[in-house]
Amino acid sequence: MSKFFTANKIFENVTQIGGLGGELCYLIEGGERAMLIDGLAGVGSLRAFVRELTDLPIELVLTHGHVDHAGASFEYGACRVHPADVELLYEHGDPARRYDFVMRGRPADAFQPKLEDVVPRCAVRTLPVYDGDVFDLGGVQLEAIAVPGHTKGTLVFLDRARRVVYSGDACNPNTLLALPCSTTIETYKQSLLHFQTFSGAFDVLYGGHGTGAVPKCIVGEALELCDEIMAGTDDQFPMAYIGRDFLYARRFTGDFKRRDNKLANIAYTRDNIFNK
Ligand SMILES: [Zn+2]
Repeated sequence: MSKFFTANKIFENVTQIGGLGGELCYLIEGGERAMLIDGLAGVGSLRAFVRELTDLPIELVLTHGHVDHAGASFEYGACRVHPADVELLYEHGDPARRYDFVMRGRPADAFQPKLEDVVPRCAVRTLPVYDGDVFDLGGVQLEAIAVPGHTKGTLVFLDRARRVVYSGDACNPNTLLALPCSTTIETYKQSLLHFQTFSGAFDVLYGGHGTGAVPKCIVGEALELCDEIMAGTDDQFPMAYIGRDFLYARRFTGDFKRRDNKLANIAYTRDNIFNK
């Protein structure tokens, strides 16, 4: 039992691990080695927690460089990441920023981590991952698909045998597309079209937040939203989130629930729609 992490086996060889900020990563074990997809915020020792789960050699691979995905890079001292997100990884590695992420909205009666629990930032040996790269863990294969949008270096990882994609923040009910490191909607649409060419190979997405698997129809829904945003026919629903003023393509209530029960939503700003 850990104060910092939860573990939930989603397949016999795959463990979904949750951090204190509700952020998720995935430990995938093959016959010879294991891959850790994302590294949470780096509050508490994820490396020690993962060591309790498997004896296999572990490679950390990031879907993107954000604060809530790259924390364990500073424990392992190495990770695989798309080169476009390396700068972001260091910028978001600031311990105060990672601490703030897990403390944001934390109930007063819940376990309160201390700033000393944050893994300090250090130099990281960043090895590149590109679209099409295949990782063979021994009987288990994962294929990288580039989906630039949420960040310029965003990747998702396809397991064809399981028919699942580990998708980080690439496409979800609250896809943030107006962060300093995001692409335009125009570019994101191209990324989703590329992602959709793989849709015959998977059924669900396991993302970096939330809990359960999300059906793959969310990708087509996000594409529809990109078209509507570019045509100016979306809801343009104004809403502040993480201290930023966004427009959402669809009006929603409560926990990002759309009225029509479709799943996708995109947060953007007017100056972030078209490529210059
Ligand atoms: Zn993110």
